[in-house]
Amino acid sequence: MAESEQFASDNYSGVCPQAWQAMARANEADEPAYGEDRWTQQAADGLRRLFDTDCEVFFVFNGTAANSLALASMGQSFHSVICHELAHIETDECGGPEYASNGAKLLLGAGPNGKLTPESIEHLTTKRTDIHYPKPKVVSLTQATEVGTVYTPAELQAIRATADRHGLRVHMDGARFANAVAALDVHPSEITWKAGVDVLCFSGTKNGLALGEAVVFFNKALAEDFEWRCKQAGQLASKMRFISAPWCGLLENDVWLANARHANACAARLERGLARLPGVQLRYPRQANGVFVDLSDDVQLALREKGWHFYTFIGGSARLMCSWATRPDQIDRFLADLEALV
Ligand SMILES: *Cc1c(COP(=O)(O)O)cnc(C)c1O
Repeated sequence: MAESEQFASDNYSGVCPQAWQAMARANEADEPAYGEDRWTQQAADGLRRLFDTDCEVFFVFNGTAANSLALASMGQSFHSVICHELAHIETDECGGPEYASNGAKLLLGAGPNGKLTPESIEHLTTKRTDIHYPKPKVVSLTQATEVGTVYTPAELQAIRATADRHGLRVHMDGARFANAVAALDVHPSEITWKAGVDVLCFSGTKNGLALGEAVVFFNKALAEDFEWRCKQAGQLASKMRFISAPWCGLLENDVWLANARHANACAARLERGLARLPGVQLRYPRQANGVFVDLSDDVQLALREKGWHFYTFIGGSARLMCSWATRPDQIDRFLADLEALV
C-alpha cells in the first residue's frame, strides 16, 4: 500500500519521530525490568503533571487490556457496566471486559451521536434493582466516541451527577482522549477527574506510539493491587521502558497534543472538502479526528479500486480516520478522486 493512501485507522500509522527517538534513548543503557526503570517513573510523573493531580499510573500493551483490566478493578463479577451500544468494549473487545472481570455484564444504553445520556443511564440503573440482575456499578464513556464525537465538560458533569445518585463509578475509554482534549480545547483535568472520572485508559497507540496505553487511576483506592492484575493477565511488560520511554517522548513539549491537533485539523480539512461535493452528507458531526460520510456502495467500491483504504462503519457510512501522520496532499487527492465519482 502506498503509505499514505489510507484513512482506515489511526493505528495504521507508524511511530511519531519523538516517540521513536525516545525509544532509541531508552536503548542506550541497561535498566531495571518490570517498570522499575527511570523512564517508567518519568512517564508516570509526566502524566501526574499533565493531569495536575496525584494519580496512579500503569502501562499495558493495548486498549482492550487497558479497558478490561480497568473495568475489572472497578467492580465485582456480579456487577454490571453501563456503556453505549456502540462502545468499543461492547463491539470490539471480544468479551474482554466480561472475561477479565469474571462475568460482569455490559448493559447497553443509547443516545444520539454515540454518546450515553443521563436519562439512558438512569433507565438502565433503575429498571431492575432485584437480586436476580447484575447490579450496575460502573458507567463507561468513550472519549472521543466511536463515531468521532466528544462529550463536553457539562455533559460529563451531568453524567457524573446521575452516577452519584446511584453510586456508580465512571470509566473513560480514552483511545482518542488526546483528540478529545484537542477538540474541546480544555485542560485534560476538565474532562477527567474534575468531571468525576475515576479511571482513564489513555491511548498512546492511536496518538503515535508503537504500542502502550496508560491506565490512570484518579480514584487511587481502585488501583489497589492493580499491578498483580496486570501481571496475571500477561500485561506486565518486562522491558517496560520500551513502552514508557516513548510515552515520555509524547509528553515532552506536549507532542501528544500536537499530534492530536494535527489529526483533528486533517479531519476538519476533509470535512470542508466533503461539504463542497454535491449530495455528500456526514453521518455524524465531525468533532475530532474521524469523519463519517454516507457514500453509496458503488462510490465506496470505486474509491477502493483507486487504492483508498477505509472502513465501512456502523450503518454503511465510510469512516475516514486521520492521524498524526496524515498529510494535507493525501486529503486533497482523496477529495479529487471522490469528486470525480459523485
Ligand atoms: C482502538 C480502540 C481501543 C483499543 O483497541 P486495541 O486494539 O485493543 O488497542 C479501545 N477503544 C476504542 C474506542 C478504540 O477505538
